[in-house]
Amino acid sequence: MADPLALQVDLLARSGLLHGFTTRLGGVSKGSFATLNLSPKWPEEAENVAANYDRLARWAGFKEQRLYLARQVHGAQGVRVADQSSAQVRPVEADYLFTDRPGSTVAVITADCVPLLLADPSGRCVAAVHAGWRGLVAGVIGAAVRSLAELGSRPQDLVAGLGPCIGPCCFEVGQEVVEAFADAFPNHPDIVVPAGSGATPFPKAHVNLWRAARAALVEAGLDPAHMADPPGCTMCDPHRFYSYRRDGARIGQQLAYIGIEGNGHG
Ligand SMILES: [Zn+2]
Repeated sequence: MADPLALQVDLLARSGLLHGFTTRLGGVSKGSFATLNLSPKWPEEAENVAANYDRLARWAGFKEQRLYLARQVHGAQGVRVADQSSAQVRPVEADYLFTDRPGSTVAVITADCVPLLLADPSGRCVAAVHAGWRGLVAGVIGAAVRSLAELGSRPQDLVAGLGPCIGPCCFEVGQEVVEAFADAFPNHPDIVVPAGSGATPFPKAHVNLWRAARAALVEAGLDPAHMADPPGCTMCDPHRFYSYRRDGARIGQQLAYIGIEGNGHG
């Protein structure tokens, strides 16, 4: 059987939510972009990226013209998708997108940052969040939860799927990143794995981005039982995932998407 084009999370699937975290498997791109590159960031054949989107849209069951992405800048701003076209949203600087509009699918692109999918379990509203270390310390996850609360969801009801990102095994950081997490998450010292600690001591400090994302979700009011397990380290798994830290620029990137079923009104 062919590989699935995207990983799904039981917690979100049980609520019937259209969602997924793509891997690099199942597309048409070549070389360092092989194969399911969904990012035009580093130049490769535009028709390959377009063909990959066609494949994914058919496999996942969303409408490509109603798939929304923004211009990610490692900040904490979001954009609400209502009746704009996807071309109108594409240049907006935002690191999360949220919507309650039936028929819309929101998405973020990542290589090593945390992709986070949030949803009201009723399927009434959803958000896709790009949470790298800068976004995490800037509060992007709390901001996304507040945006869904403004659409009428209770944070304690929301469900969250954390996608593949660079794991604590690989995410070596400098002192400025250690200090940024200590300032942003004073109650969660376990986010940073200090140099020289652990069974196989790291020569430099490492950061556990999944732990940081979970801490941000709990602080925003989510129930830890409503968060799905992370499905893998991007840097450790070159077969399934692109990783900027491992391979540098001119690589492909993964897509995390979540949508609201229905035809909407447009
Ligand atoms: Zn790793």
